[in-house]
Amino acid sequence: MSTPELLPILRYPDPRLNTVAQPVVAFDDRLRELVDRMFATMYDAHGIGLAATQVDVHQRLIVIDVSETRDQPLVLINPVIDWASPETRKGEEGCLSVPGIYDGVERSLAVKITALDEQGQSRTIEAEDMLAVCIQHEMDHLMGKVFVEYLSPLKRNRIKTKLLKAERDARD
Ligand code: ZN
Repeated sequence: MSTPELLPILRYPDPRLNTVAQPVVAFDDRLRELVDRMFATMYDAHGIGLAATQVDVHQRLIVIDVSETRDQPLVLINPVIDWASPETRKGEEGCLSVPGIYDGVERSLAVKITALDEQGQSRTIEAEDMLAVCIQHEMDHLMGKVFVEYLSPLKRNRIKTKLLKAERDARD
């Protein structure tokens, strides 16, 4: 089997990251190829989650692997949150679309979701701790929301300036 080709990851503040994703309707080889390429891209970037939005595909599709051993891939298609714990915690988050930036975001400690896999099979997943946070973070991407948008306008602008400068420096 050949190695899946990596996909370019959109960087904040790229306005395409604010696109609201549409439900996946076709569970075909094209979808499964996209899933493979998203996993390869996520592992290559040492990420624990990647939403299709981040690779400029505006469909409700997420890949996740929060395991230390990087061998527990999880595909979430058309995910819906059925329940989110009222208990929340503020934890530090990062994002492959916001490289080098980490900041605190308040999230539910546990969630229960229903999602399809790449074969179109539905299942319910109960998640807590890091997996719960990761699911909430990635589902925000599908709604066009990047985690830094929870931060104060002052912090957000500082991050925007920093990333735009890094992009310019990389081009020069
Ligand atoms: Zn992210």
